[in-house]
Amino acid sequence: MPRKPRTGICVYCCSFGVVTSDHVPPKCLFPPNARLNLITVDACSACHDTFKLDDEYFRVTLAVRDDLPDVLDSRFLREQTRKMLRDPKSMGFRAAIGKATFLVPSVSKTGERIGERVGLKVDAYRVERTAKRMIRGLYSKYFQTILPVTHDVIASLLDMQRDTSAFLSTETQELLVLLREQGTHQSFGNVLEITYAKADGDEHASFWWVKLHGTFNFFGFTLPREG
Ligand SMILES: [Zn+2]
Repeated sequence: MPRKPRTGICVYCCSFGVVTSDHVPPKCLFPPNARLNLITVDACSACHDTFKLDDEYFRVTLAVRDDLPDVLDSRFLREQTRKMLRDPKSMGFRAAIGKATFLVPSVSKTGERIGERVGLKVDAYRVERTAKRMIRGLYSKYFQTILPVTHDVIASLLDMQRDTSAFLSTETQELLVLLREQGTHQSFGNVLEITYAKADGDEHASFWWVKLHGTFNFFGFTLPREG
């Protein structure tokens, strides 16, 4: 017997109706054995259906990173990405990725140029859109309430593995210290770390730090909308 549709409020568009479980972060970023305890939130099918391509794009940007650790969980990302790009249904997607590639010089440890390799010009806007969505989902899960329309999500893509202090503003560095000291931290195997804290003085303002596969970091806020 088909399961009775579940109703609820979509955490992304706040509409009431039939909802499905949406994984936050998207489950395609993790190997199946790591999916069991992942976070899910309620989403309407209209929102859910718009996420698929962005999720796949996000996975591509993770899979092509040369600092992705060579461990089973991360190798899975590469294999899945290869499989998806080979699929005849992905022709348009593959063409778009192909257009965004370019050659970058390869440099040895001693600084000598040793040929060229392929780089990918990442659509930061698109990656950010997925990052924002994740923060909205995580907010609703951890605080058990939907972010009100008076507030917005801001996401900032970081690569804090390399050298945090070199390019983060003093303000952001202070926030990171606060998150490390006072934030709530949750790890999901080697593939996901989430640290978050509420801000003082505004019940819906919060800070987020998400780390994927030990490599890709992003930082986010829920803040009152301007104006
Ligand atoms: Zn929705």
